[in-house]
Amino acid sequence: MNFYNINNPSEQVSLKEAVLKSVTRVSDLYMPEYIPILSSEFFNKLNNTSLQEIACNVTKVMLGQDIPDISIENIINRALNFEIPLRQLDKNLYVLELFHGPTLAFKDIGARFMAGLFEYLLRNENRETTILVATSGDTGSAVANAFFNCKMVKVVILFPAGKVSNIQEKQLTTMGGNIMALEVDGDFDDCQRLVKLAFSDAELNSRLNLTSANSINFARLFPQSFYYFYGLSQLAATNKPVVFSVPSGNFGNLTAGIIAKKMGLPVHRLIASTNVNRCVPEYLLNGRFDPQPTIHTITNAMDVGNPSNFRRILDLYNNQYNLISTDIKGYWFTDEQTLRAMNDLQNRYLYQADPHGAVAYLGLKEYMERNDCCGIFLETAHPSKFPDEVEKATNKKVQIPETLKDLMALKKGSVKMPNSFASFRDYLI
Ligand SMILES: *Cc1c(COP(=O)(O)O)cnc(C)c1O
Repeated sequence: MNFYNINNPSEQVSLKEAVLKSVTRVSDLYMPEYIPILSSEFFNKLNNTSLQEIACNVTKVMLGQDIPDISIENIINRALNFEIPLRQLDKNLYVLELFHGPTLAFKDIGARFMAGLFEYLLRNENRETTILVATSGDTGSAVANAFFNCKMVKVVILFPAGKVSNIQEKQLTTMGGNIMALEVDGDFDDCQRLVKLAFSDAELNSRLNLTSANSINFARLFPQSFYYFYGLSQLAATNKPVVFSVPSGNFGNLTAGIIAKKMGLPVHRLIASTNVNRCVPEYLLNGRFDPQPTIHTITNAMDVGNPSNFRRILDLYNNQYNLISTDIKGYWFTDEQTLRAMNDLQNRYLYQADPHGAVAYLGLKEYMERNDCCGIFLETAHPSKFPDEVEKATNKKVQIPETLKDLMALKKGSVKMPNSFASFRDYLI
């Protein structure tokens, strides 16, 4: 599979380059030159196929010319060693739980696949690669966990000081080894800006072999398509159209859903559910994309004022607004509505959701009020990652998994960093 740069479609690169090469201009994004379609045979037996088999099939049609089957199977079996269960809450209402990985958020799925792919692609290299990752919380911990002890890879994580939860901070700052955590005096967009500046610095690039692990990297984005297939495979037969509601920030998750749909998955609609950082739902309403400064909310993993993957969405639809706004519906919600939704889920269905999943539930409910369908919302984090909000909203203690209890006892190790590229550059060198 060749990949092209959305900014300059005539720039074609291999999988290895698309994944490992730093993103050298500020907004370069790679996409596969075409989206392959899975066979009807695959879809006919979808219901009897395991998560790992589905993921192998999907990967083989996309990357089978670049990676031998046996290596694909190894990467998948190591990355996806946990379940992604679909739970039924009501007649046509389901929740797909993406948080059963080691850091309890859906980002484990992309990060673990990516780490396996890096190891495969770097197997013959003897130069170290440095991964830079800006995080609003969950990305950094998933990447740190996935790449811990990975040979020939160093990971530098930038997170906004004071804007991630306690648990997220522990997950980011306690790995040690080849993982470095920088606490930036700014917000997520500042962290992302620093990373982008580093990528556009030729000297840094050549000295450190920089690459990205944000969802702008295709290797992280692509595996997120697996669970759309697996979600549908667990669904009892229905003659209603199926929609997925996706709690969205940087829009990697939703973009992966579009890719799954283009690969042939019978998904009727995707719902972009956001907090008040709402430039995509507004675009879907009026056709104007007007990114705004980031607003801080209780769904901090979705506090993104200017989502990088939006341009991938445009590209997947050839910039045709009418097609995009038909396939994707968008809704946004305030923190107050999100807290009420957590309460509602607890009272109606005895389901304790995290705030991000609650936003997805709200978007789905809004859509289902006007449309008869079978709805699945994505639950992207375990409620124990946001205990204060969840307990306040549901009047019920959250169950803390054992792995988290152990984590909270560890000592934080991070470096404080002003919001300045000069300091960041010095640190890297
Ligand atoms: C990252 C994250 C999101 C947003 O996902 P995007 O792919 O950036 O849209 C939603 N929920 C949680 C818990 C996250 O960590």
